[in-house]
Amino acid sequence: MKIILAEHSGTCFGVKKALEVAERFADSNLNVYTLGPLIHNKQVVERLDKKGIRVIDTLDSIEGGTVIIRSHGVPPEIHGQAAGKVVELVDATCPFVRKIQEKVKEYYGKGYQIIIIGDAGHPEVKGVNGWCNYSAIILDKPEDAEKIGYFEKLCVVAQTTITSGLWEEMKSVLEKKGDEIKFFNTICSATSMRQQAAVELAGKVDVMLVIGGLHSSNTQKLYKLCKENCKNTYHIETADDLPLENIKGAESVGITAGASTPDWIIKEVIDKMTEMDKMKQQETNEQTSEEQMLEQAQGVEETTGSLEGNGPEEATAEGVAAEDAAVEEASAEEKPSEEETPEKDTTMKEIENTLVTVRVGKVVKGQVIQVGENDVIVNIGYKADGIIPRDELNNDPTLKPSDLVKEGEEIEVFVKKIDEKEGSVLLSKKKVDIEKAWKVLKEKHQTGEPLNVKVLEEVKGGLIAIAEGIRGFIPASHIDIGYVEVLQDFVGQELPMKVIEFNRSKGKVIFSRKALLEEQKEKKKKEILENLKAGDRIEGEVKRITDFGAFVDVGGIDGLVHISEMSWSRIDHPSEVLETGQRVEVEVLGVEPENERISLSLKKTKPHPWDNIQERYKAGDIVTGKVVRLVDFGAFVELEPGVEGLVHVSQIAYTHVEKPQDVLEEGQMVEVKVLDVKPDERRISLSIKETTEKPRREFSKEKPQAQQVHSEDHPPITIGELVGDIFKEEE
Ligand code: SF4
Repeated sequence: MKIILAEHSGTCFGVKKALEVAERFADSNLNVYTLGPLIHNKQVVERLDKKGIRVIDTLDSIEGGTVIIRSHGVPPEIHGQAAGKVVELVDATCPFVRKIQEKVKEYYGKGYQIIIIGDAGHPEVKGVNGWCNYSAIILDKPEDAEKIGYFEKLCVVAQTTITSGLWEEMKSVLEKKGDEIKFFNTICSATSMRQQAAVELAGKVDVMLVIGGLHSSNTQKLYKLCKENCKNTYHIETADDLPLENIKGAESVGITAGASTPDWIIKEVIDKMTEMDKMKQQETNEQTSEEQMLEQAQGVEETTGSLEGNGPEEATAEGVAAEDAAVEEASAEEKPSEEETPEKDTTMKEIENTLVTVRVGKVVKGQVIQVGENDVIVNIGYKADGIIPRDELNNDPTLKPSDLVKEGEEIEVFVKKIDEKEGSVLLSKKKVDIEKAWKVLKEKHQTGEPLNVKVLEEVKGGLIAIAEGIRGFIPASHIDIGYVEVLQDFVGQELPMKVIEFNRSKGKVIFSRKALLEEQKEKKKKEILENLKAGDRIEGEVKRITDFGAFVDVGGIDGLVHISEMSWSRIDHPSEVLETGQRVEVEVLGVEPENERISLSLKKTKPHPWDNIQERYKAGDIVTGKVVRLVDFGAFVELEPGVEGLVHVSQIAYTHVEKPQDVLEEGQMVEVKVLDVKPDERRISLSIKETTEKPRREFSKEKPQAQQVHSEDHPPITIGELVGDIFKEEE
């Protein structure tokens, strides 16, 4: 007979923990109680009772002592009741159940109607209901779910031991029962894994045994699921209940056990079956031997009868020899060696195979089954689940466990400690990640590739930062290209940086953002110098102004706008046109990659002032301009930026002007008459004197005292003022 134990059979993490807590108080001669049966297993409860741990139903039934809260958990008021008595509560609530209680409390507080999918009579469900002031709707059938009303906000949780099938069915009904629904699938993974493994095994064996308390809800569900897949399924509490007659003929027997079935009960069942099988085997062998002996004897008789001349002695001798051989064979079967009992050997191996062996210092794979505020529980396939405390998850204190792992995720963990007595396994994710991270950092240091670095805090001389879970230092001078006055501004930021120093043995890592920025700047500069060409128009920022021009950053490299390229009109200083920080469009005049020089023009981005000049100035027009230059042969008058005309010395006044400086000065505003416009030659001839009427006769040989000129200091001169003397003389 082949006996196969299903994976994930027997006590789960929560039950094991509760049993261990109880064991600590066994035979202690203290008044120790459990609030309700510790687990739904009569044999275990009786055993504990013998060790002085008794079951109570309420705290009112005792005056004082130590009370163990079982893995199902309790409503919150129990803690209050205990405080009013001389009672010490030892809380062995399973962390999975506690998580449901916390969720229910949180969402009840937020105004959600709580729905618990499960058995209203089960202590876990009763306890959870207490965390929402007993306001939960408890459902275990889709038909009942159909009947509930419609709610604005619903929060749905599951009893840890319900089946995934029921959860899905209920979910599909409840999805239509509210505006905003939060579903929390709180089925314990230990339960679902146990159920799945049992169902798979039940489909392959002749007989399936489900071991567990007759009142244990999870065992009942397990039995139901197995029965659906194997009609010869039996629910037994102990080895005494084994349906031996029904098993006898089976070639394969599968075994699973509920969450509250301790290992020793499973072992008893297996031992009894192995014993039974051994006896059956022995019976078979004996029967075979008898038959063989009989056959041998018959053979002798037949031989005796056929061989004439052979005496009965000979025949008897052969018969004895055959008998001896048969007896020897039978004796060998009666004293089987371990190597000769393959069924038993296979069974034990299969049992062992269901448990993963872990040892301290080993890296194992596991599945995250619960993410709490301060720790993470991981199923590593060992008899107990492992716990990763917060500080063993990651070095970044700003991250919560939920930022780092998700339920259901497969992760690698390092086994730090195994406490067989406590049944706990201390794991570290940080250690595995850190080993990987050191490799990554080493590679980044060697290749020069950047990586994301999170700045954690400011310290003397720089900043502490973290990358890939490894803490390092950023010297103050390496956080940026220029000087940074307030380092604190970088705290909390995640920025790409380079690893500029790496020493694994000293645990030293130095990050530099400056190195990366400089590298990027150089790269960009090279790109610009390679791609930019004369005539390109680009935007830039004025970085520096000098007497001879302005330097404009055109994307990582500064180009020069010479003063002569700033405006179409004459300027004395670049600051008349530009200021530092201003964004401007410039045109590229030339690029010298070898010298890293770019010459730029600002004025070329503006229309040329002589374009369409004839549309703005025509012969005969009288306009105002500014005297910008005085030369011997006349005065240059600016009509608009970049457009200057010449007033020939002969056109300054009707009287003789020796030198233009005698009657005009630079900066003076004058009215001029346009005499001629020659766009091709960029020449405009102007006249000051023709803005006034020509005097009818000569009145004085003296040079005029003033012309028809004006400036801010010299208001415009009227014709009367200019020729007033004439009229005075005539009068
Ligand atoms: S079945 Fe799951 S939830 Fe229940 S006690 Fe065991 S581990 Fe905890």
